[in-house]
Amino acid sequence: MGPRRVYVVGHRNPDTDTVCSAIAYAELERCLGERDVVPARAGELDAETAHVLARFGVPVPELLTDATGLDLILVDHSEVGQALPHIERANVLEIWEHHRIGDLRLAKPIFFHCEPVGATATLIAEQYFARGVPVAAPMAGILLASILSDTAAFRSPTVTAKDRDVAARLALLAEVEPQSFGEELLRIKARAMDRKSAADIVGCDFKEFDFGDLRRVGIGQVQVMQPGAIDQRKPEILREMRARRDAGGLVQLILMITDVPGESSVLWFVGERRELFERAFGALVDDAVHLPGCMSRKKQVVPPLEEAFAAEGVEPC
Ligand code: MN
Ligand code: MN
Repeated sequence: MGPRRVYVVGHRNPDTDTVCSAIAYAELERCLGERDVVPARAGELDAETAHVLARFGVPVPELLTDATGLDLILVDHSEVGQALPHIERANVLEIWEHHRIGDLRLAKPIFFHCEPVGATATLIAEQYFARGVPVAAPMAGILLASILSDTAAFRSPTVTAKDRDVAARLALLAEVEPQSFGEELLRIKARAMDRKSAADIVGCDFKEFDFGDLRRVGIGQVQVMQPGAIDQRKPEILREMRARRDAGGLVQLILMITDVPGESSVLWFVGERRELFERAFGALVDDAVHLPGCMSRKKQVVPPLEEAFAAEGVEPC
């Protein structure tokens, strides 16, 4: 019997970084020949990721819908609410991550690399360089796309010098000009948004966070090139947000609409404990607050909100 198959998989509602980091890490392991490692995804591809894979001729990875009994390497997440269903029943071997350390508890000690860079892809590319494995042009292309996608083409405050260095090396290997490729990806994302239903706008890049004592908050993000178009759909989208919050039993549901050229975001809010949201971000006007300079969910939205929840203390149950 050969070794057990290991899947590399990212978070639900997959984005380009989560899918392409899984593909590139599985490919690195394949090149090193150590284990039977294959990439996977935890949901349907969005328009941007589908474009990136097609552009570089990389096959779409296998879809997983349940983690039960699988050997897994996780990339780009460590929160139970973002992982495959039944993640607690999987055998997690490694995690590669660039968000806050999540709430996934594991019985065994594992390798866990978490580093606050702009994209998981930066960490995966670094592993190729460190282990002396050549990065083939398609892998370089999808890793570069991931860095551009996660950082809105280097505009996000999450970008580090390491992301820029790694992206420059990948761009040479992929023979792609990074800034114009980044703008191309942003246009694809924005165009896909125009055709989306309200449910898809709220759900396409949606993550759940557990701020303790079953205080679960959902935060979606959309990146737009012109914020006016989505504003016109606000009543319909707020209705969808309320329905989704009720169905998911969430305390709050927030939609972060990021104006990429304007380098700012508007947060739309539905739910309870409005005062905690306002402590974090200021007064809501028409269920919205405008935040200049805010582009990153993990760096600029999750931390102040979690602090506001924590400051309120633990309520007796
Ligand atoms: Mn991601
Ligand atoms: Mn990422």
